[in-house]
Amino acid sequence: MTAPGQVRPEETVNITGTIAGRDLEALRAAVAGQVFVPGEAGYDQTRQAWNLAVDARPAVVVAAESASDVAQAVRYARAHGMRIAPQGTGHGAAPLEPLDGAMLLRTTRMRQVRIDPATRTARAEAGTEWQDVTVPAAEHGLAGLAGSSPNVGVTGYTLGGGLGWLARRYGLAANSVTAAEIVTPDGDLVRADAGHEPDLFWAVRGGGGVGVVVALEMRLYPVRELYAGDLFFPIQRAAEVLHAWREWTAAVPDEITSMGHLLRLPPLPGVPEPLRGRAFAVVEAAYLGDAGAGAELIQPLRRLGPEMDTFAMIPPAALGQLNMDPTQPVPGEGDGALLADFPSAAVDALIAVAGPDADTPVASVEVRHLGGALARPDPEGGAQPSIDASYLLYAVGATPTPDLAGSVRAHVQAIKDALAPWHAGYDYYDFKDTPATAAAVLPPASVRRLQEITAAYDPERVVISAHPA
Ligand SMILES: Cc1cc2nc3c(=O)[nH]c(=O)nc-3n(C[C@H](O)[C@H](O)[C@H](O)COP(=O)(O)OP(=O)(O)OC[C@H]3O[C@@H](n4cnc5c(N)ncnc54)[C@H](O)[C@@H]3O)c2cc1C
Repeated sequence: MTAPGQVRPEETVNITGTIAGRDLEALRAAVAGQVFVPGEAGYDQTRQAWNLAVDARPAVVVAAESASDVAQAVRYARAHGMRIAPQGTGHGAAPLEPLDGAMLLRTTRMRQVRIDPATRTARAEAGTEWQDVTVPAAEHGLAGLAGSSPNVGVTGYTLGGGLGWLARRYGLAANSVTAAEIVTPDGDLVRADAGHEPDLFWAVRGGGGVGVVVALEMRLYPVRELYAGDLFFPIQRAAEVLHAWREWTAAVPDEITSMGHLLRLPPLPGVPEPLRGRAFAVVEAAYLGDAGAGAELIQPLRRLGPEMDTFAMIPPAALGQLNMDPTQPVPGEGDGALLADFPSAAVDALIAVAGPDADTPVASVEVRHLGGALARPDPEGGAQPSIDASYLLYAVGATPTPDLAGSVRAHVQAIKDALAPWHAGYDYYDFKDTPATAAAVLPPASVRRLQEITAAYDPERVVISAHPA
């Protein structure tokens, strides 16, 4: 029996941020998707990010099925004073603040994709993985600006810029977005494009966005096949290979995007036999052109005599295999840095901390070649109109135990520190895997505009951003 004026605890959001009773029922009735609170079967599975090292414990998890679910969830969270963390795959969950008391709004089930070959565009719902776009687009001889992994989410990747195998020719994925459907922090569903909601449209293209995205529309490019592959060398040859690759990048056309990669593969059955348990220096590249011209372009690297050479004409959907990214969820610690330059001394510095003689738990150290279209400011572009850096470093290792996590973190930091003399003014948004504000990952003018837009649309910072303004 409840006395007049007394609020029954099960009807309220209590101060520890758990929801129960009628409140929970109201949320469940409002959405078609599923809702879980701590202790319920399904909570742990639904809150789990792709990066298994992340252990967020939100007050409630909503697995949205539709734009309407997203809007209902946002309105519910607003009405109950909760903050909201939108998430697709959870590949980018590491930099997030703790989600205690918050709503984790998962879009994993929103994976509808529409390819329009006539306009060369795709519309992808917020939970779409890149392979959901690249595979059907390839049937029409088209390619989207996917990154190295087929399982990374289109939305998080694109909101943070999106650097893939066609980047030097077509720029960041963010700047190929033609429209975004967004639930504003007030719970209204709006369309942002060149003619509507210019601020939201700008912020979604590389600034992490404001509000919750329910779908993105983007340009696709005519690419039926391209010449791409990997040259594998034993890691003992890392210095020779990285120096040669670095010199080679100085004169390649925009049609080639490439990386130099130090790779230490675990002795696990899932790794193909010739690579299992071994360490390599790898040059990976994708060339928008035919095999004859491509072979001529990579000849200076091929002449070094790789142990394995996988270059061939491939459909763009197969680019997802080039970098050998893990396709299953793993616990990991990583971090990246934009490099203003990568001169010979930087190669030596990198070899000293991650080369054949380094005793390191870091599995993968990539140096990606930027420039080309990435360096030319897109006058119609968004929060990252260009990238004012020539190379991009990213180092990551698996962390199956807490002990290993500390060790990997320290080694990743040591690799970043070794290249500190060549760091650009800020880091790359999507490779910033540690907590950091927008000022750490965007040019200063973009940070200022993002702060103004956030203040106008989300003054209480209801939506939790990977890198808040
Ligand atoms: C194996 C691997 C390979 C990668 N390769 C590349 C690469 O080649 N190039 C590159 O640029 N990056 C790459 N990344 C980095 C990747 O782009 C980021 O981790 C990105 O955040 C992943 O997006 P997601 O949607 O999959 O992740 P999520 O963790 O689901 O989302 C990341 C963040 O995006 C925002 N977000 C997601 N969905 C929404 C939404 N619906 N509305 C509003 N905000 C939203 C949120 O802030 C969220 O925290 C890679 C990462 C991994 C783990």
